[in-house]
Amino acid sequence: MASIDAEACPFGGLDEEEPPGTSVPLILTRGAGRFSRPKRPRNIVVRAAVSTGQTPGRRLQSTFQTRAFRKAFYPDVPDRLWNDWRWQYRNRLRTLAQLERVLVLSDQEQAAMSLDGAMLPVSITPYYMSLVSRDDRDQPLRRTVIPNASEFLNGPGEADDPLGEDGDTPVPGLVHRYPDRVLLLVTDCCSSYCRYCTRSRMVGHGSMPHGLDRLERALDYIRRNPAIRDVLISGGDPLALGDERLDWILTRLRRIPHVEFLRMGTKMPAVLPQRITPELCRMLRKHHPLWMSLHFLHPDECTPESFLACARLANAGIPLGSQTVLLAGVNDDVDTMKRLVHHLLKMRVRPYYLYQCDPITGSAHFRTPVAKGLEIIEGLRGHTTGYAVPNYVIDAPGGGGKIPIQPNYVVGRDGDDLLLRNYQGGLYRYPDPL
Ligand code: SF4
Repeated sequence: MASIDAEACPFGGLDEEEPPGTSVPLILTRGAGRFSRPKRPRNIVVRAAVSTGQTPGRRLQSTFQTRAFRKAFYPDVPDRLWNDWRWQYRNRLRTLAQLERVLVLSDQEQAAMSLDGAMLPVSITPYYMSLVSRDDRDQPLRRTVIPNASEFLNGPGEADDPLGEDGDTPVPGLVHRYPDRVLLLVTDCCSSYCRYCTRSRMVGHGSMPHGLDRLERALDYIRRNPAIRDVLISGGDPLALGDERLDWILTRLRRIPHVEFLRMGTKMPAVLPQRITPELCRMLRKHHPLWMSLHFLHPDECTPESFLACARLANAGIPLGSQTVLLAGVNDDVDTMKRLVHHLLKMRVRPYYLYQCDPITGSAHFRTPVAKGLEIIEGLRGHTTGYAVPNYVIDAPGGGGKIPIQPNYVVGRDGDDLLLRNYQGGLYRYPDPL
């Protein structure tokens, strides 16, 4: 089985965190959302959430798919539980039998679930599963969370640790590549596992020591290196830890005088938006300046629940950016990417990076030619708001860091003039004496 039982998460796994019931539930109601009947004013409903950042006085609309999925497979689960992030986490779908209950699996998918030795376990929250097509194995969201036999192929240039992070790890769980910033891995758990994950060598396997000792060593390393001004907290997904554990980590980092600001990377607003509770946001806002990198891939992830999650974070004063991975058959066309970045701006999330997919072992079916990424950037630049255009980067294999890749708009030179082309292909001169 590809799924394993390695997620006890003794350091702060959700199952042993605060008692359930503290999150403010989303309230679902009748009416149409963006996936059902377009006549109804979906934006009005969402806007109510976005403007307040609290559970809106008006009832929040869930998508048609989510409501239909709940009715079919979780008819007895009340809103109170469905909207409780701990319930969602405890009830993740992780086994072949659980997937077969809600999906019509292809032979390939069944084979992948039955093979031993997968790098990455399977885990999908019921909420995210509600967005996955029951029978279309090529549906973009389904491709990102349901294993495929192609994961077991080892292609040329692929590696388990393509970015060479292990070589830049002075103490366990801390990657120090750039002089002034570090990556602190606080957990190896996620609520849902992405089949293209760069850290699939370590996430979800339960092999990361969860004791305080490991974190104290990492904190001590940061304390002893005054050049470190920026700490990126990642994992796994740091929001897989409970509020108290996160508060503990953030408080200790904040006490280090030379740490100027903190960043956190999370996919929770997309896969488990119920995790973004008012209580969490109240805790996070104590630790400003705190920035967040969210991980959205496809416009279908931009549901009312995700809108509300992002609104709560933004209203807590947290600048939000999205790191999107370019994936074949998921978001590798201009139209899909344009719809995604437009949704993100409405969610107050700046499309920050578009990543070329890392050559992780078994990722060939996800990787696109670099030319595809350039085509997408060309299709956005000038054709939509500048804020909507992410930086397209390749994280250089072997630890070279992020390298920006851009279409070339400089056509050449004519004497003292630089020759430029604009987004429509028009030629322009700019005086640029040598
Ligand atoms: S949420 Fe991030 S760390 Fe977790 S599986 Fe997805 S890409 Fe990997």
